[in-house]
Amino acid sequence: MIKRKKSGELIIISGTTCAGKGTIIDKLLERNDNLSLSLSYTSRPMRPGEVDGVDYKFISHEEFEEKIKNGDFLEYAKVRYGEYFGTPKEEVKKLLSTGKDVILEIDVQGARQIKELFPETILIFIMAPSMSEVKKRIKTRGKETKEQVLDRFITAYKEINEIPKYNYVVVNDNLEDAVEKVEAILISEKCRVDRIEEIAVENQEEFMHELLLEDEKEFKNDPIAKKID
Ligand code: 5GP
Repeated sequence: MIKRKKSGELIIISGTTCAGKGTIIDKLLERNDNLSLSLSYTSRPMRPGEVDGVDYKFISHEEFEEKIKNGDFLEYAKVRYGEYFGTPKEEVKKLLSTGKDVILEIDVQGARQIKELFPETILIFIMAPSMSEVKKRIKTRGKETKEQVLDRFITAYKEINEIPKYNYVVVNDNLEDAVEKVEAILISEKCRVDRIEEIAVENQEEFMHELLLEDEKEFKNDPIAKKID
């Protein structure tokens, strides 16, 4: 009865540092076949353990700027330490055209650009329960210099100021609850009237006519009605 749009939805997931958005996205992808994740390009150096084509498509600063000139990005931004991050236009278009819903895990600058281009995008912001919790999580990882940690917090506080521009905010104090909340958001969004192409029901005149005829037959078979007859 309900004809959905053939093209998928764009979903942006942003979040403060160490909020666990990567883990939430992995769980969402595991549990929902119709979801896919857009793989971003970046000019930042690969970290130990990262894989080209899995974590990002790692390219040089020059290659990134060439792609900007060619108009290859849906959005891009210098996110940290002057390094570029960007969403590839063609790949996302292709995924959406197959009817898949596409998650973009991008920062607040990218979210702003995408929202302007596609106002119907669903914007979700994931937060850690507190900054003290973030500090604990960063210290446990212990991979970064003091400057890098300070920079993460400066960025985190700036990003929190952008939350009013998002549609939803989810606090990740429990992974399973957070995943369920994001799934609930996506389910509700799919039911929104403005995301439905058409509501098709049987023709009213024909349907009512048939219904009346059926009622008449049923009435005739009714034992009480027969007695009255
Ligand atoms: P990192 O991978 O260096 O830990 O963090 C990357 C930051 O850049 C995260 O905040 C992530 O959301 C953001 N990011 C990743 N890919 C993109 C992208 O394609 N565009 C934008 N604007 N931000 C991105």
